[in-house]
Amino acid sequence: MHNIIQISYFIAAFLFILGLKRMSSPVTARNGIVWAGIGMLVATLITFFEPGMQNYLLMTTAIFVGGVAAFWSGKKVAMTDMPQMIALYNGMGGGAAGAIAAVELLKGEFHSQTFLTLAVLGALIGSVSFSGSLVAFAKLQGLLRRPMRFPGQLLFNTAVFLVAIALGAMLIIQGEFTGGIILMFFAAALAYGMFMALPIGGADMPVVISLFNALTGLAVAFEGFVLNNAAMIIAGTVVGSAGTLLTQLMAKAMNRSLGNVLFSSFGSSDAAGADSVQGSMKPIDAVDAGVMMAFAERVIIIPGYGMAVAQAQHKVHELMELLLARGVDVKFAIHPVAGRMPGHMNVLLAEANVPYDRLYDLDEINPAFPQTDVALVIGANDVVNPSARTNPDSPIYGMPILNADQAKNVIVIKRGQGKGFSGVENALFYGDNTRMLYGDGQAMIGELIEAVKDL
Ligand code: NDP
Repeated sequence: MHNIIQISYFIAAFLFILGLKRMSSPVTARNGIVWAGIGMLVATLITFFEPGMQNYLLMTTAIFVGGVAAFWSGKKVAMTDMPQMIALYNGMGGGAAGAIAAVELLKGEFHSQTFLTLAVLGALIGSVSFSGSLVAFAKLQGLLRRPMRFPGQLLFNTAVFLVAIALGAMLIIQGEFTGGIILMFFAAALAYGMFMALPIGGADMPVVISLFNALTGLAVAFEGFVLNNAAMIIAGTVVGSAGTLLTQLMAKAMNRSLGNVLFSSFGSSDAAGADSVQGSMKPIDAVDAGVMMAFAERVIIIPGYGMAVAQAQHKVHELMELLLARGVDVKFAIHPVAGRMPGHMNVLLAEANVPYDRLYDLDEINPAFPQTDVALVIGANDVVNPSARTNPDSPIYGMPILNADQAKNVIVIKRGQGKGFSGVENALFYGDNTRMLYGDGQAMIGELIEAVKDL
């Protein structure tokens, strides 16, 4: 039986990696999710056959409750709420790793000091990821609107972290497994996760979410060693390394170092005041905007979070087809942190069947803007803010952006004067070559479609 169990764990781990591989292209991504899901099913079912396993009723109840809740919330969640859901699920992974460690520490039966150390490390990292992800969830859900800061915060956070480390070390060195110390250790680790995420503001959330993702993977891998579970070790390592790469990518997309994200106050709405912009916004109606696009040679569409809110991706696809039929060259410019989760725009556009080869990333598309007749910005804000390039006083100075302002004409679709996630005023909207098409993204693209059709 032991061999069958180990082989099953390896099969599960293989399916996770296969799933991840297939998720790297929008064409095979859905199929990848299914394979990874089958892997999880195999890993879960085989656990029932582990020697010495008890509590079958409790296990079945937990799987039933968790499964129903996840299925129901997964079906119901709006695409715009997906980032919060990911933050929450991420946190659950870290919490689960922490819970495994808690049980093992309470049992106190470790084969060696190494396993004990791994259990404690996994508990620390998992708990930080759990409470930190819950704070990230609250921020993305709009439950916590402002970054919370107080004088001496960095010092305070460091102190909480050191307390958690000291208690963890005590567990390892003294092998002291009294409930009180374990409880204090977990309380300090959870508190640190929370305090670490609270001051991090607006635009930095992509980096933070990916970081917690990486931490969760690491915690699961450590606990996999403790339980001698190959599926957990491999899956955890894969998630940990994928999350680390994503963190690096996201930090690069914001032109910031990880230390800077975690320990400074960029991306907070507090800083927005430093960036006042002169001039006025000039409106345009859909008919004029439609004519402009229909007679253009080159159009670049820049989607942002507002496109997700408006669920306008299908209409955007329809507009693209109409323009292509008129001989207009249409491209999409995708910023790595547009929307509210990594790959958000790619997912939406793939769902609407926009061909993947029309999507260009920042470095590829930026040189094309000066030769572009119309840049159509739909619900994007921070990712097209030229202050990041031109104004050293701006809090987002240095963040690579899509150079929409360099196009001959810019049309911006948004509902009103709403700011971006970072809360920074956008100089693009006041540009001489910019016209504002006010309204909901889906409705306005619909009007543009009618305008182009009427020509
Ligand atoms: P922003 O959040 O900067 O701006 C979105 C704009 O969309 C707003 O200005 C809003 O203006 C407009 N909008 C909202 N609803 C609608 C609608 N129904 N129709 C039309 N417009 C609408 O979006 P970006 O994509 O440019 O930038 C993403 C930001 O989110 C970055 O700061 C990034 O760091 C951050 N972030 C990204 C994550 C990621 O992983 N990608 C994760 C977490 C945060 P108005 O209200 O006037 O309509």
